[in-house]
Amino acid sequence: MQKKAKATLRTASAKGTHREIGIRIGEQCRDIARRMDRRLRNEARGLIGRSPSEDIARARKVLPATRRFAPGYVEELEGYAEGAGLSFDRIFVMMCVLDWEAKGCTDIAVSERWTKDDCVYAAHNEDVEPCNLDDIVMARIDPDDEPGYIGMSYGGIMPTVAINAAGISITGNALEPNDLRPGIPKMIVVREIMRAEGLHDALKLSMPRGRGHSFNNIVCDSNGEIYSMEGSATTFDAIYAEEGYLVHTNHYLSPRMWKFEADMHSRFSSIMRYNRAKKLFRQEVGEVDVSTFMRVLSDHVGYPESICRHPDPKLSESEQTMTIFSSVFDLTNKAIWVCPGNPCTGTYERHDL
Ligand SMILES: [Zn+2]
Repeated sequence: MQKKAKATLRTASAKGTHREIGIRIGEQCRDIARRMDRRLRNEARGLIGRSPSEDIARARKVLPATRRFAPGYVEELEGYAEGAGLSFDRIFVMMCVLDWEAKGCTDIAVSERWTKDDCVYAAHNEDVEPCNLDDIVMARIDPDDEPGYIGMSYGGIMPTVAINAAGISITGNALEPNDLRPGIPKMIVVREIMRAEGLHDALKLSMPRGRGHSFNNIVCDSNGEIYSMEGSATTFDAIYAEEGYLVHTNHYLSPRMWKFEADMHSRFSSIMRYNRAKKLFRQEVGEVDVSTFMRVLSDHVGYPESICRHPDPKLSESEQTMTIFSSVFDLTNKAIWVCPGNPCTGTYERHDL
């Protein structure tokens, strides 16, 4: 309850070369980077039973493939380490350890066909462990050689949802595929999609060969093209919003991907949120505006594992999940509505790219 009351939106911004961007964001988010590093170190040791040196050895193995796929972003991470006063190894380990996070989120995307104001929207609740609440930063990044973007980012440098100046948005959901392997971390991919100048590039960047894991990457553009890129480590299916909208949570929807679901018996919250969000959203199809998402994303049916998720007091802290922010992207006007903390108690504010 205390966490809800103090949820505020932290911001950071940087422009220049990738390295300069990293340094500037690292300086602005030094406290968060250090806190995340301490926590993930302990989590890796406690939950996975790995020492910091084992983590570094594992991360270094996937670095060459990551650098080939995302050379500019790796430079940003190198700059970030410098700005935050941490080693690059620790920052890159953080990126790799985040692959283990598979809590849950709820997403809706809709084309202009069904909206009252002819806008294209992508909406997202970010559901993770409650301890991540203070790690989120709204970052405005403007690289010299790529489209600028605005993202909701862990530590200001690892975006989880974002929109760029070319009218591309990335939102999405954690999945638990059973074909994990050492490879490009899934968080890298989110940032790389923001390099895209158009839809083709965005789809291609959402599923790099040699990845070790994957989110369900929801890629939309301002023409109202909406794709749910349901990935595992080794394959994917591209679900197109045939009807002009789609809903996604944390289980595979494509029959082609069902065999990659690691444990369907752990997906009851996901199944419930998916059906509930679809039902509520359908009631407003044709009349959709930004308030539609605010209503659906605040829903409490199935509480506490509802669309607006709250920590279940019956679970341990590391097993709990909560909505740490709620967001709605307006792709037509290149704006984001953000509510820090649970949307049932907070307020959404608009920010333009
Ligand atoms: Zn709530």
